[in-house]
Amino acid sequence: MNLMSKPVAYSVKAYSAASATSPLAASNIQRREPTDRDVQIEILYCGVCHSDLHFVRNEWGNGQYPAVPGHEIIGRVKKVGPKVTKFKVGDIAGVGCMVNADLSCPHCRAGNEQFSPSMIMTYGSTDKHLGGPTLGGYSEAIVVDEHFVLRVPENLDLAGVAPLLCAGITTYSPLRHWKVGPGKKVGIVGLGGLGHMGVKFARAFGTHVVVFTTSPGKKEDAIRLGAHEVIVSRNEDEMAKHAGTFDFILDAVSADHDINGLLNMLTPDGNMTLVGAPEKPFPISSFGLIFGRKSLSGSLIGGIAETQEMLYFCGEHNITCDIEMIRMDEINEAYERMLRSDVKYRFVIDMASLKAE
Ligand code: NAP
Ligand code: ZN
Repeated sequence: MNLMSKPVAYSVKAYSAASATSPLAASNIQRREPTDRDVQIEILYCGVCHSDLHFVRNEWGNGQYPAVPGHEIIGRVKKVGPKVTKFKVGDIAGVGCMVNADLSCPHCRAGNEQFSPSMIMTYGSTDKHLGGPTLGGYSEAIVVDEHFVLRVPENLDLAGVAPLLCAGITTYSPLRHWKVGPGKKVGIVGLGGLGHMGVKFARAFGTHVVVFTTSPGKKEDAIRLGAHEVIVSRNEDEMAKHAGTFDFILDAVSADHDINGLLNMLTPDGNMTLVGAPEKPFPISSFGLIFGRKSLSGSLIGGIAETQEMLYFCGEHNITCDIEMIRMDEINEAYERMLRSDVKYRFVIDMASLKAE
């Protein structure tokens, strides 16, 4: 790029990992001064997604260091560029997994910026303004093109809204795409950050919701969150009772598990959509799909318009994430707990704790 056009940068505090095997630690990073269409946001809360952990530890092979994860961002607008129309100083704003795309390709025009070849992720893409990797929300501030900044319903608890920016849209979008609603039996696999939002949305859309969990201790919570039934997926008898009965299954599991056993739960013409992105590929039995003309698909977050729709839906239905607030310096321990499926149901970092460091 033309160095003459490089924007002025300033320094902010962040938590970053120096390599795939280093813990996250305090550091300073650069942010650009807002250009024409940029919104500068002081971050109040940032959710902790399992993708942050996959990325920081290079489990997907796309790690870039220093790595600053975080793509469930809620903050207050501090400054806007001269051409910004959607936001003014003092507004509450949200940022999810994307911070840029060309906005002119067929995918962007269809509202699917997440599928654009030019899409820039909040962390781990190349920063076209300052060079180096894009750096996420485990930081004091972020500067983002206004198209990728979301409005936040004022009636909701802000810390509980933060994870909607990824866990919320990633579950809302496939449930909408596959048109689940009254009369459909829907399975949600894995009661973690994504899964618990899948339960809330599937219930709000009027389906019969069944949770598949490996944690018997989460049964009561699953019901409280909106499930009608709970299956402990390691119990063969419980699985056998429901075989062949699901119209749709959303798999939000972060680690290796028996995907063929889950396909066996689908009714003919049923669909299972993967949103979980474990490190290792799955072995898929073709017979599991052939018998019953079943389909297996995937889904990546959701477009900006749909993310905004989801946030307004949550505002109307009073839906937020169930969170456990942590300090920034508790992040490494939070990752270990996330690996043990010990989170109810999303960690959210109170960014005031980073400021205070
Ligand atoms: P999370 O909070 O850690 O939840 C994952 C859940 O998976 C756990 O709570 C656990 O639920 C279940 N689980 C864990 N290990 C398991 C195992 N070995 N076998 C079976 N179940 C197991 O993670 P998350 O933040 O919700 O993310 C889930 C996955 O989605 C991650 O891979 C993440 O990278 C991916 N993701 C994808 C997108 C997308 O756009 N597609 C967006 C965000 C995240 P139980 O205790 O109930 O069994
Ligand atoms: Zn995420």
